[in-house]
Amino acid sequence: MKYLDEYRDPRVAKALLEKIHGSAGRIDREIRIMEICGSHTVSIFRAGIKSLLPENVRLVSGPGCPVCVTAMSDMDRMIALASPPDGTDTLVATFGDMIRVPGTKTSLEAEMASGADVRIATSPLDAVMWARKHFEKSVVFLGVGFETTSPTIAATVLKARKSGLKNLFVYPAFKLLPPALVALLETPDIAIDGFLCPGHVSVMLGADAYRPVAARYEKPCVIAGFEPIDILLGISNICDQLAENKHEVANAYGRAVSNGGNVKAMGILDQVFEPVDAPWRGLGTIPASGLGFREEFAAYDAIRRFGLDSVEAGSEPKGCACGEVLRGLMDPPRCPLFGKACTPDSPVGSCMVSSEGSCAAWYKYSS
Ligand code: SF4
Repeated sequence: MKYLDEYRDPRVAKALLEKIHGSAGRIDREIRIMEICGSHTVSIFRAGIKSLLPENVRLVSGPGCPVCVTAMSDMDRMIALASPPDGTDTLVATFGDMIRVPGTKTSLEAEMASGADVRIATSPLDAVMWARKHFEKSVVFLGVGFETTSPTIAATVLKARKSGLKNLFVYPAFKLLPPALVALLETPDIAIDGFLCPGHVSVMLGADAYRPVAARYEKPCVIAGFEPIDILLGISNICDQLAENKHEVANAYGRAVSNGGNVKAMGILDQVFEPVDAPWRGLGTIPASGLGFREEFAAYDAIRRFGLDSVEAGSEPKGCACGEVLRGLMDPPRCPLFGKACTPDSPVGSCMVSSEGSCAAWYKYSS
C-alpha cells in the first residue's frame, strides 16, 4: 500500500477483523493487548476499533503519553523553575500540554498567569532562539518525551554548545520505553498478553529493541503505525501469535521502522545523555528508564544549575487514579473523579491534560 486512503479502506479493515475474530475464537480466555502509546489510544477511539473486536479481545491503554507519565516530583521541580529559589530570571520553554499539568500546589499555567515567563515552544530550537534574544535570562527547556523527542533535544544541546550559548538549559525528564515494558511485566497483577508497540518511538528504537522483552517474558510485541489498517494489522498479528503460542517481535509498520532503528539519532542521544533511574507517575522509580546529562554536558543540566534536588517531592492529587490508568489496571471512567471533578477543561490528573492521555481520549470519544 502506498497511499493514505489505502490504510483506511473499509474492505481491508473488514478482512482483517474477520481474521482477528478467527484467531481470537481459537483462544478460550480474555486476551489483554496493551496499546502503549497515546497516539494509538486516540486512533483506536477515532476509528471505533474497540467495538469491532471480538468479545474476548480487550485493549488497554499503557504509559506511552510522556506528559501523563511525568512524575509529580518532576512536575513540581519544573514549576519551581518558573521562579527559582536563587532569584534567577528564568524563561521556561515547553511543549503545550505541560503547562496545564497540575503540580502539588500550582501549575506552569498558573505561574504564567502570575507573571512568570513561561512560553510554549513548537520545537526545542525556539528555546535556542529565545536564549539568543534574552541574554539577561536563563532559558530552560523542559525535556519531556520518549525516544522520539529526546534525540532532537540532544541535538539542540550540541547546537548550543557549538554556538557557545551559556544561558540555555534542559530539565531532563525523558523516558525510555523498553524499561517501562519490563516494569509493567514485572508487576504481578497486570496480566498483559501482548504489546501494540508505538510507531514513532520504534522508528528511532528499531524493532530489535523489543526482542529481549518478547523473549524473556514470552509476550508478542508488534509495532504498528497509526492508521486504522495499521492498528488492525498489529492486533491481528498479536492474536495470531497468541493462537499459535508464539511470542515474537513483528513489524506491521515496515514502511517506517527498520530492525536497527535510527542509528544516527540514537548516537546523538547517547553522546549527550546516559540512562538513569527515573520516577514515573503510576509506576514508581524504574531502573535505567530515564536520561541524565553525561558529565561532559553537566553545564546544561537545569537540575544541577538551579539546585532543584532540594525541591520537596509532592504527592498525587487526592482521589486521582492516574496510576491505575497508566498501568492498564483501570479504564478511566472507573475513576471517581472522571467527568465530574476532572475534565479536560479542569484536569485533576495528567491523563486528562494531554490530548493523548487515556482519560482525555475516553472523555472526548466515549461521552
Ligand atoms: S479522571 Fe482525572 S483524576 Fe481520574 S485518573 Fe483520569 S486524570 Fe486522574
